Amino acid sequence: MGLSLIIGAILMVATVIIDATVGLVKRGLDRVWQEAGWGDKFRSRDLIIPIIAVGAAVATAGASLFAGLVIIRRSILIAIVSAIGIVVGSLIVTGLYLAMAYLIAPILSTLVQFDSLSQVDYAEYGGGGGPGGGPGPGTEPGGGVYNLDCGEDAGSEIMIQAGSYPVVKKLLTGPGRTGYCIFPTKIVIHWSGGWTNNDVTYNVLVERGLSCQIGTDQDGSVQQWQQMWEKKAELAYCVGGNENNYSLNNEMVGAYFIPPGTFSLKPEEKAPSTDEIKSSVNSTCFMMKQYHIPYTQIFGHYQLHPGKTDPGVEFLNYFINEVKKQCP
Ligand SMILES: [Zn+2]
Repeated sequence: MGLSLIIGAILMVATVIIDATVGLVKRGLDRVWQEAGWGDKFRSRDLIIPIIAVGAAVATAGASLFAGLVIIRRSILIAIVSAIGIVVGSLIVTGLYLAMAYLIAPILSTLVQFDSLSQVDYAEYGGGGGPGGGPGPGTEPGGGVYNLDCGEDAGSEIMIQAGSYPVVKKLLTGPGRTGYCIFPTKIVIHWSGGWTNNDVTYNVLVERGLSCQIGTDQDGSVQQWQQMWEKKAELAYCVGGNENNYSLNNEMVGAYFIPPGTFSLKPEEKAPSTDEIKSSVNSTCFMMKQYHIPYTQIFGHYQLHPGKTDPGVEFLNYFINEVKKQCP
Protein backbone atom coordinates (compact mmCIF):
# COMPACT_ATOMS: atom_id res chain seq x y z
CA MET A 1 0.00 0.00 0.00
CA GLY A 2 2.73 2.39 1.02
CA LEU A 3 4.85 1.51 -2.03
CA SER A 4 2.02 1.93 -4.51
CA LEU A 5 1.30 5.34 -3.05
CA ILE A 6 4.91 6.39 -3.48
CA ILE A 7 4.96 5.15 -7.08
CA GLY A 8 1.65 6.87 -7.73
CA ALA A 9 2.94 10.13 -6.32
CA ILE A 10 6.14 9.93 -8.39
CA LEU A 11 4.18 9.21 -11.58
CA MET A 12 1.82 12.07 -10.88
CA VAL A 13 4.69 14.47 -10.28
CA ALA A 14 6.44 13.35 -13.48
CA THR A 15 3.27 13.63 -15.57
CA VAL A 16 2.43 17.09 -14.31
CA ILE A 17 5.95 18.39 -14.83
CA ILE A 18 6.27 16.89 -18.31
CA ASP A 19 2.84 18.10 -19.41
CA ALA A 20 3.35 21.58 -18.09
CA THR A 21 6.89 22.11 -19.25
CA VAL A 22 7.13 20.42 -22.65
CA GLY A 23 4.14 22.32 -24.01
CA LEU A 24 5.37 25.48 -22.37
CA VAL A 25 8.88 25.32 -23.75
CA LYS A 26 7.48 24.51 -27.18
CA ARG A 27 5.11 27.49 -27.13
CA GLY A 28 7.82 29.73 -25.72
CA LEU A 29 10.28 28.72 -28.42
CA ASP A 30 7.67 29.05 -31.16
CA ARG A 31 7.04 32.60 -30.11
CA VAL A 32 10.73 33.36 -29.90
CA TRP A 33 11.36 32.04 -33.41
CA GLN A 34 8.49 33.99 -34.85
CA GLU A 35 9.37 37.29 -33.32
CA ALA A 36 11.57 39.60 -35.25
CA GLY A 37 13.85 41.93 -33.42
CA TRP A 38 14.28 39.44 -30.60
CA GLY A 39 16.72 39.95 -27.90
CA ASP A 40 16.28 43.71 -27.83
CA LYS A 41 14.03 43.81 -24.81
CA PHE A 42 13.05 41.54 -21.98
CA ARG A 43 9.35 42.12 -21.48
CA SER A 44 7.45 41.34 -18.33
CA ARG A 45 4.67 39.59 -20.24
CA ASP A 46 7.18 36.95 -21.25
CA LEU A 47 7.24 35.92 -17.60
CA ILE A 48 3.51 35.20 -17.45
CA ILE A 49 3.69 31.61 -18.68
CA PRO A 50 6.51 30.55 -16.31
CA ILE A 51 4.65 32.17 -13.39
CA ILE A 52 1.46 30.32 -14.32
CA ALA A 53 3.50 27.12 -14.54
CA VAL A 54 4.90 27.60 -11.04
CA GLY A 55 1.43 28.40 -9.76
CA ALA A 56 -0.03 25.29 -11.37
CA ALA A 57 2.74 23.16 -9.93
CA VAL A 58 2.22 24.58 -6.44
CA ALA A 59 -1.53 23.95 -6.73
CA THR A 60 -0.88 20.38 -7.86
CA ALA A 61 1.52 19.92 -5.01
CA GLY A 62 -1.13 21.16 -2.60
CA ALA A 63 -3.70 18.82 -4.08
CA SER A 64 -1.44 15.80 -3.79
CA LEU A 65 -0.62 16.76 -0.19
CA PHE A 66 -4.35 16.94 0.57
CA ALA A 67 -4.96 13.60 -1.17
CA GLY A 68 -2.15 12.06 0.83
CA LEU A 69 -3.74 13.28 4.08
CA VAL A 70 -7.16 11.95 3.23
CA ILE A 71 -6.22 8.57 1.80
CA ILE A 72 -3.74 7.42 4.40
CA ARG A 73 -2.39 9.33 7.36
CA ARG A 74 0.75 7.23 7.65
CA SER A 75 1.86 8.49 4.26
CA ILE A 76 1.67 12.12 5.26
CA LEU A 77 5.44 12.39 5.25
CA ILE A 78 5.67 10.93 1.74
CA ALA A 79 3.03 13.36 0.55
CA ILE A 80 4.90 16.32 2.02
CA VAL A 81 8.14 15.16 0.47
CA SER A 82 6.54 14.73 -2.94
CA ALA A 83 4.84 18.11 -2.65
CA ILE A 84 8.19 19.77 -1.93
CA GLY A 85 9.64 17.78 -4.82
CA ILE A 86 7.02 19.16 -7.19
CA VAL A 87 7.72 22.73 -6.15
CA VAL A 88 11.49 22.34 -6.37
CA GLY A 89 11.17 20.49 -9.69
CA SER A 90 8.94 23.16 -11.15
CA LEU A 91 11.36 25.89 -10.10
CA ILE A 92 14.24 24.05 -11.79
CA VAL A 93 12.16 23.50 -14.91
CA THR A 94 11.08 27.14 -14.97
CA GLY A 95 14.72 28.17 -14.71
CA LEU A 96 15.58 25.85 -17.59
CA TYR A 97 12.70 27.27 -19.61
CA LEU A 98 13.95 30.81 -19.15
CA ALA A 99 17.49 29.77 -20.02
CA MET A 100 16.19 28.02 -23.16
CA ALA A 101 14.04 30.92 -24.25
CA TYR A 102 16.50 33.70 -23.61
CA LEU A 103 19.88 32.15 -24.16
CA ILE A 104 19.71 29.06 -26.35
CA ALA A 105 16.91 30.00 -28.73
CA PRO A 106 18.66 33.08 -30.14
CA ILE A 107 21.81 31.05 -30.68
CA LEU A 108 19.82 28.39 -32.51
CA SER A 109 17.93 30.96 -34.51
CA THR A 110 21.13 32.38 -35.95
CA LEU A 111 21.61 29.02 -37.65
CA VAL A 112 18.42 29.39 -39.64
CA GLN A 113 18.05 33.12 -40.04
CA PHE A 114 19.46 34.17 -43.34
CA ASP A 115 20.16 37.70 -42.13
CA SER A 116 22.52 36.48 -39.47
CA LEU A 117 25.06 35.28 -42.04
CA SER A 118 27.82 37.71 -42.75
CA GLN A 119 27.18 39.53 -45.98
CA VAL A 120 29.63 41.36 -48.15
CA ASP A 121 28.80 44.99 -48.82
CA TYR A 122 28.68 45.26 -52.59
CA ALA A 123 29.18 49.01 -52.37
CA GLU A 124 32.73 48.31 -51.23
CA TYR A 125 33.29 46.67 -54.58
CA GLY A 126 31.86 49.56 -56.56
CA GLY A 127 28.45 47.97 -57.04
CA GLY A 128 24.97 48.53 -55.72
CA GLY A 129 23.46 47.06 -52.61
CA GLY A 130 23.11 43.60 -54.07
CA PRO A 131 20.08 41.30 -53.76
CA GLY A 132 17.13 43.04 -52.23
CA GLY A 133 18.96 46.31 -51.84
CA GLY A 134 18.94 48.09 -55.15
CA PRO A 135 21.00 47.35 -58.20
CA GLY A 136 23.09 44.24 -57.76
CA PRO A 137 26.55 43.69 -59.14
CA GLY A 138 25.26 42.21 -62.39
CA THR A 139 23.64 45.45 -63.43
CA GLU A 140 26.87 47.40 -63.15
CA PRO A 141 28.77 48.38 -66.29
CA GLY A 142 31.45 45.91 -67.30
CA GLY A 143 29.60 42.82 -66.14
CA GLY A 144 30.19 43.31 -62.45
CA VAL A 145 32.62 40.53 -61.63
CA TYR A 146 33.36 40.87 -57.97
CA ASN A 147 36.06 39.46 -55.83
CA LEU A 148 34.49 39.18 -52.43
CA ASP A 149 36.08 39.04 -49.01
CA CYS A 150 34.62 36.64 -46.44
CA GLY A 151 36.70 37.90 -43.56
CA GLU A 152 39.79 36.72 -41.73
CA ASP A 153 38.18 33.59 -40.31
CA ALA A 154 37.57 32.34 -43.86
CA GLY A 155 41.29 31.72 -44.39
CA SER A 156 43.01 32.13 -47.75
CA GLU A 157 41.08 31.93 -50.97
CA ILE A 158 41.34 28.55 -52.69
CA MET A 159 40.41 26.93 -55.98
CA ILE A 160 38.50 23.69 -56.29
CA GLN A 161 40.62 20.71 -57.41
CA ALA A 162 39.43 17.85 -59.59
CA GLY A 163 42.50 15.65 -59.83
CA SER A 164 44.03 15.84 -63.31
CA TYR A 165 41.04 17.68 -64.80
CA PRO A 166 41.43 21.40 -65.53
CA VAL A 167 39.64 23.97 -63.38
CA VAL A 168 39.02 27.53 -64.53
CA LYS A 169 37.67 30.37 -62.42
CA LYS A 170 34.77 32.08 -64.13
CA LEU A 171 32.88 34.07 -61.51
CA LEU A 172 29.17 34.50 -62.08
CA THR A 173 27.57 37.89 -62.43
CA GLY A 174 24.15 39.14 -61.44
CA PRO A 175 22.07 38.71 -58.31
CA GLY A 176 23.18 35.08 -58.07
CA ARG A 177 26.38 36.48 -56.58
CA THR A 178 24.85 36.49 -53.13
CA GLY A 179 27.74 38.00 -51.23
CA TYR A 180 26.96 35.74 -48.28
CA CYS A 181 29.59 33.48 -46.77
CA ILE A 182 28.84 30.03 -45.38
CA PHE A 183 30.63 27.28 -43.50
CA PRO A 184 29.70 24.41 -45.85
CA THR A 185 28.51 21.13 -44.36
CA LYS A 186 26.83 19.46 -47.35
CA ILE A 187 27.75 18.60 -50.92
CA VAL A 188 24.87 18.58 -53.42
CA ILE A 189 25.01 16.91 -56.84
CA HIS A 190 22.88 18.22 -59.74
CA TRP A 191 22.36 17.67 -63.42
CA SER A 192 22.23 20.84 -65.49
CA GLY A 193 19.18 19.72 -67.48
CA GLY A 194 20.76 19.39 -70.91
CA TRP A 195 23.68 17.65 -72.64
CA THR A 196 25.40 20.94 -73.43
CA ASN A 197 28.47 22.39 -71.68
CA ASN A 198 29.58 24.47 -68.68
CA ASP A 199 29.23 27.77 -70.57
CA VAL A 200 25.56 27.06 -71.27
CA THR A 201 24.95 26.24 -67.60
CA TYR A 202 26.79 29.43 -66.64
CA ASN A 203 24.59 31.56 -68.93
CA VAL A 204 21.38 29.97 -67.65
CA LEU A 205 22.40 30.71 -64.06
CA VAL A 206 23.16 34.35 -64.91
CA GLU A 207 19.86 34.74 -66.80
CA ARG A 208 17.87 33.40 -63.87
CA GLY A 209 19.79 35.21 -61.14
CA LEU A 210 20.94 31.90 -59.70
CA SER A 211 24.33 30.52 -58.74
CA CYS A 212 26.13 27.27 -57.93
CA GLN A 213 29.74 26.99 -56.79
CA ILE A 214 31.03 24.71 -59.56
CA GLY A 215 30.04 23.07 -62.84
CA THR A 216 31.47 19.90 -64.39
CA ASP A 217 31.57 19.36 -68.15
CA GLN A 218 31.29 16.17 -70.20
CA ASP A 219 35.07 16.10 -70.70
CA GLY A 220 35.63 16.44 -66.94
CA SER A 221 36.75 20.08 -67.06
CA VAL A 222 35.49 22.23 -64.20
CA GLN A 223 34.40 25.85 -63.97
CA GLN A 224 34.44 27.49 -60.57
CA TRP A 225 31.66 30.07 -60.52
CA GLN A 226 31.84 31.33 -56.96
CA GLN A 227 34.63 31.94 -54.51
CA MET A 228 35.90 29.51 -51.93
CA TRP A 229 38.22 29.93 -49.02
CA GLU A 230 39.99 27.46 -46.75
CA LYS A 231 37.07 27.40 -44.30
CA LYS A 232 34.22 29.20 -46.00
CA ALA A 233 32.50 29.37 -49.36
CA GLU A 234 30.25 31.86 -51.06
CA LEU A 235 26.58 31.02 -50.60
CA ALA A 236 24.87 29.82 -53.79
CA TYR A 237 21.28 30.21 -54.89
CA CYS A 238 21.30 26.65 -56.14
CA VAL A 239 19.38 24.17 -53.98
CA GLY A 240 16.64 26.55 -52.90
CA GLY A 241 15.47 27.60 -49.46
CA ASN A 242 17.40 27.19 -46.27
CA GLU A 243 19.57 24.39 -47.67
CA ASN A 244 21.59 26.96 -49.59
CA ASN A 245 23.07 28.01 -46.27
CA TYR A 246 24.94 24.72 -45.93
CA SER A 247 25.63 23.51 -49.43
CA LEU A 248 28.42 23.27 -51.95
CA ASN A 249 26.87 22.53 -55.34
CA ASN A 250 28.20 20.74 -58.41
CA GLU A 251 26.14 21.22 -61.60
CA MET A 252 27.05 18.28 -63.81
CA VAL A 253 26.28 18.82 -67.50
CA GLY A 254 23.51 16.49 -68.70
CA ALA A 255 20.07 15.22 -67.71
CA TYR A 256 18.30 12.07 -66.55
CA PHE A 257 21.46 10.37 -65.31
CA ILE A 258 21.65 6.63 -64.84
CA PRO A 259 24.69 4.68 -63.57
CA PRO A 260 27.21 3.65 -66.26
CA GLY A 261 26.62 0.14 -67.56
CA THR A 262 22.92 0.18 -66.77
CA PHE A 263 20.32 -0.10 -69.47
CA SER A 264 17.20 1.95 -69.83
CA LEU A 265 14.29 1.77 -72.26
CA LYS A 266 13.75 5.49 -71.91
CA PRO A 267 15.85 7.20 -74.59
CA GLU A 268 16.37 10.35 -72.52
CA GLU A 269 18.14 8.42 -69.77
CA LYS A 270 21.88 8.32 -70.14
CA ALA A 271 25.01 7.89 -68.04
CA PRO A 272 27.50 10.76 -67.82
CA SER A 273 30.91 10.11 -69.39
CA THR A 274 33.67 8.41 -67.41
CA ASP A 275 35.56 11.74 -67.34
CA GLU A 276 32.58 13.71 -66.04
CA ILE A 277 32.01 11.18 -63.26
CA LYS A 278 35.70 10.85 -62.37
CA SER A 279 36.12 14.62 -62.24
CA SER A 280 33.04 15.03 -60.04
CA VAL A 281 34.23 12.26 -57.70
CA ASN A 282 37.60 14.04 -57.48
CA SER A 283 36.09 17.46 -56.72
CA THR A 284 33.74 15.88 -54.16
CA CYS A 285 36.72 14.22 -52.45
CA PHE A 286 38.50 17.57 -52.44
CA MET A 287 35.56 19.37 -50.83
CA MET A 288 35.08 16.60 -48.25
CA LYS A 289 38.70 16.85 -47.22
CA GLN A 290 38.86 20.65 -47.32
CA TYR A 291 35.72 21.26 -45.26
CA HIS A 292 35.66 18.04 -43.20
CA ILE A 293 32.41 16.83 -44.75
CA PRO A 294 31.60 13.09 -44.36
CA TYR A 295 30.16 11.10 -47.27
CA THR A 296 26.86 10.89 -45.35
CA GLN A 297 26.52 14.61 -46.14
CA ILE A 298 26.50 14.11 -49.90
CA PHE A 299 23.01 14.70 -51.27
CA GLY A 300 21.11 14.79 -54.52
CA HIS A 301 19.11 17.93 -55.23
CA TYR A 302 15.93 15.82 -55.13
CA GLN A 303 16.56 15.00 -51.47
CA LEU A 304 16.69 18.64 -50.41
CA HIS A 305 14.07 20.30 -52.56
CA PRO A 306 10.56 19.04 -53.35
CA GLY A 307 9.80 18.65 -57.05
CA LYS A 308 13.44 18.14 -58.10
CA THR A 309 14.60 14.81 -59.51
CA ASP A 310 18.29 15.48 -60.22
CA PRO A 311 20.69 13.75 -60.29
CA GLY A 312 18.52 10.58 -60.21
CA VAL A 313 18.18 8.15 -57.30
CA GLU A 314 20.19 5.30 -58.82
CA PHE A 315 22.89 7.57 -60.16
CA LEU A 316 23.34 9.25 -56.77
CA ASN A 317 23.70 5.86 -55.06
CA TYR A 318 26.29 4.84 -57.63
CA PHE A 319 28.10 8.17 -57.28
CA ILE A 320 28.31 8.03 -53.47
CA ASN A 321 29.65 4.47 -53.74
CA GLU A 322 32.37 5.66 -56.13
CA VAL A 323 33.26 8.46 -53.68
CA LYS A 324 33.55 5.90 -50.87
CA LYS A 325 35.81 3.72 -53.02
CA GLN A 326 37.97 6.46 -54.50
CA CYS A 327 38.41 9.10 -51.82
CA PRO A 328 41.76 8.63 -50.16
ZN1 LIG B 1 19.60 20.72 -59.22
